[in-house]
Amino acid sequence: MQNYVCQAPGCASPAATRYGRYCYSHKAQLKRHGAIGQTAITKADLRPYRDKVRVRVAKNHSNSLRENLETRWKALVAYADAVMAEWRSGKAMARYRREAAQEVLRLNTGANLSDVIETLLALYSCKIRSHAGSRATTGFEHSLSGA
Ligand SMILES: [Zn+2]
Repeated sequence: MQNYVCQAPGCASPAATRYGRYCYSHKAQLKRHGAIGQTAITKADLRPYRDKVRVRVAKNHSNSLRENLETRWKALVAYADAVMAEWRSGKAMARYRREAAQEVLRLNTGANLSDVIETLLALYSCKIRSHAGSRATTGFEHSLSGA
């Protein structure tokens, strides 16, 4: 049996499966981050963007953006609760839908709302400035939803 070689640029490892496109490492990277070459966006990467968001929010204290985002977050949490109630009642659903709902509920109980909003705004700010850590739009979108 001869495996194909990983198709990631610069990688010469054998593919993870007989007819697979990528080696174990690149296959895991694709699954985790959504694109080959995409790395995790760390807290340190986001820090300057969060600082800018914080300054901007403080300057525009009377702005309705925060109130609007809080309302949207609460609606998302209510939706996630409904998804989990459906799942608990035995309704069949795609695993990613349940996992996304679980992650939203985990964020809702484990992090404060200001941090969630600041982090999301920082991620968008980071994307707008074409952060080097975001190699592909799909990878970035993947990071937004899961990492
Ligand atoms: Zn590889």
